[in-house]
Amino acid sequence: MRFVERLLLENQAWASEISHRSPEIFDRLKSGQSPDVLWIGCSDSRVPAEQLCNAAPGEMFIHRNVANRVCPHEDGFMSVLEFAVAVLKVNHIVVCGHHCCGGVKAAMTDENTGLGHLDHHLEAIRQVRRENAETLESIRDEGERLNHLVALNVMEQVRMLSELTLIKDQWSERRRPSIHGMIYALETGRLQEIHRWDGDENHTFLRDAG
Ligand SMILES: [Zn+2]
Repeated sequence: MRFVERLLLENQAWASEISHRSPEIFDRLKSGQSPDVLWIGCSDSRVPAEQLCNAAPGEMFIHRNVANRVCPHEDGFMSVLEFAVAVLKVNHIVVCGHHCCGGVKAAMTDENTGLGHLDHHLEAIRQVRRENAETLESIRDEGERLNHLVALNVMEQVRMLSELTLIKDQWSERRRPSIHGMIYALETGRLQEIHRWDGDENHTFLRDAG
């Protein structure tokens, strides 16, 4: 069976199953959405946001790109962020990185990937790597070094979000706004929060980046 035929059949099965379990769900979804979280994750196929959070349709507003970057100069990214905070008024933003991230791995060196858009996109992560070169070089294990940069990248994205005017303006009027930096461990399926921002200067680091 061709892959697309399989997708369509699987979709039929999924829609039937979910209708059986929650007969009202599609009627409810038709009337609108009010997700509580904006999820900014990596495009990697091994990190399916809704599945790993066991979330139902309507619960998570999602943006994914290579290596879960915050991109203040891209309309695609900023329109998602703008809509999430100004219209949906989500209470939480999650930035989720993951172990063994191919995008971050490509940013471990200055060697071009040969893909113009990707190299441009990865430059900001390469900059995080340069700024933390000493710490990273002290980590002997290659996999641990990569996962450390994954964590540093997540923390940098949380910091960038917290300093955006859009976030400060929209969230200053509301109670307990929060941004969460998380890491997903592919090898165990577990998600861990490493960094939280609760407004103003309240950055909390919940574990070492490594
Ligand atoms: Zn990735």
